[in-house]
Amino acid sequence: MQTKYIFITGGVVSGLGKGIAGASIGALLESRGLTVSLMKLDPYINVDAGTMNPFQHGEVFVTEDGAETDLDLGHYERYTNAVLTRKHNFTTGQIYDSVIRKERAGKYLGRTIQVVPHIIDEIKDKITESSQNVDVSIVEIGGTVGDIESLPFMEAIRQFRHDCGRENGIFIHLTLIVYFENGEMKTKPTQHSVGKLREIGIQPDILICRTKYQMPQKIKNKISLFTNVEEDAVINGMDVASVYEVPLMFNEEGLDEKIVEYLHMWTGRPKLQPWADTVDCFKNPVGEVTIAFVGKYVEHRDSYESLNEALAHGGIANRVRVNLRYINSEELGGTHGLDLLQGVHGILVAPGFGERGTDGKIEAVQYARVQKIPFLGICLGLQMAVIEFARNVAKIPNAGSGEFTPNNKDNVIDLMPEQAGQEGTGGSMRLGGYPAVLKKGTLIASVYDSEKIVERHRHRYEVMNDFVPRLEKAGLIISGRHPNRDLVETIELAPEEHPWFIACQYHPELKSKPLKPHPLFASFITAAYQYRGSEKEAEESL
Ligand code: GLN
Repeated sequence: MQTKYIFITGGVVSGLGKGIAGASIGALLESRGLTVSLMKLDPYINVDAGTMNPFQHGEVFVTEDGAETDLDLGHYERYTNAVLTRKHNFTTGQIYDSVIRKERAGKYLGRTIQVVPHIIDEIKDKITESSQNVDVSIVEIGGTVGDIESLPFMEAIRQFRHDCGRENGIFIHLTLIVYFENGEMKTKPTQHSVGKLREIGIQPDILICRTKYQMPQKIKNKISLFTNVEEDAVINGMDVASVYEVPLMFNEEGLDEKIVEYLHMWTGRPKLQPWADTVDCFKNPVGEVTIAFVGKYVEHRDSYESLNEALAHGGIANRVRVNLRYINSEELGGTHGLDLLQGVHGILVAPGFGERGTDGKIEAVQYARVQKIPFLGICLGLQMAVIEFARNVAKIPNAGSGEFTPNNKDNVIDLMPEQAGQEGTGGSMRLGGYPAVLKKGTLIASVYDSEKIVERHRHRYEVMNDFVPRLEKAGLIISGRHPNRDLVETIELAPEEHPWFIACQYHPELKSKPLKPHPLFASFITAAYQYRGSEKEAEESL
């Protein structure tokens, strides 16, 4: 099978949404019956995204095989059926690392190792390797044309297309149309950006122009004239109310039709009803709920990209709008007390690292438990829930986590003995998909409608089994465990104690999709909506 390639670059400014554009193109091609894979090439030098600050870089997305990758892989998986791996995200750091290793191993037989051809060839090989057995491979280059550091990647895709030919590979460039308040649309930055691409030998085939308002035909003509891109390949990439509208908008603009025409592919008409239904659920909800999102990086929404999305999917599954009230856990407790949690219909305690803000998270758990407000704790959120329960219900007042109080004998959360001595960042975490067995008859088993699940992990610390009998005796239900290593995966409270209280050590948000909302988020939002209903009834009967 001849794999076809789509190379996506960006120009003018960063942050135009190349990731969503690539993901949407993937969705459109799948809707025409094609198989796709998607790949992101990041020009920065870090070997992977694992050690990067979430404030700066956004969420670290974890693949099934345990790679810590760029958050765009999250968009790719959410919009398509592709299951991505460590092969689908490469950085300059990894490319150099693998070339240098080969050089040390004598693989180049003493030749001088250079950017051209060795680095470029390595990039080309990685692209080929990640594109096996699919109809179309979508390859996105991070950064903006003109960046010094992205040059080797640009040269690699230029050569790649030269080798495979226009009918097997096309270039899509994303740019920005500048809009002035007096109504003028400015195309010059787009022209310059395409000029910059041509300087390095890349003539784009399709332009997606981010624009606030639809470009009139005469603007498209002008762009076409000055960039050598066919008029009907100049696509409006308009601002839309929901990111899930992007595939539909691109389709209306004729983007997928143009892609298959250029790539000489004959496919069926796209079947886009599921996307239309999803957008309809999102835009026309029958009700709404407010969820407290308690975390540490809440000012930086990108840091919780998958979680924000998964909560929205939970809303879509229920046709309910989910309003998120972001709460910096450091602001909980203290002078505001727990006022910030007033009036919410569900409380989510987010994943995180480091001690800052953990007291507030523990207070949020306690509030949810005592007030019987639907609660979902994820990763650090589970650890906080276990500590809260240990302190306030199981009467272990010093209960803590080895992450914050290493020498405390009452650490209910700690490193496993085999992890001791593995200090430091990078590589010491439980990463990727692991199985869990759910206990029959528990809330979580009914939520999944299954007793065997596989979910993705990214953490170091675990619930200490030594404390489990005391916690269980006090009423905590250990509802899910890793089958072989006997690690706690999920906890909950009994239905007599609480209507919906679940926490998990893994990250369910990484597997939720708009067309397939994750059952935990769907059920959490159902519970929040019911809670809201019962609150209303109580108010009305007063
Ligand atoms: N910091 C905790 C750990 O390493 C939780 C990590 C997380 O929430 N992803 O175990």
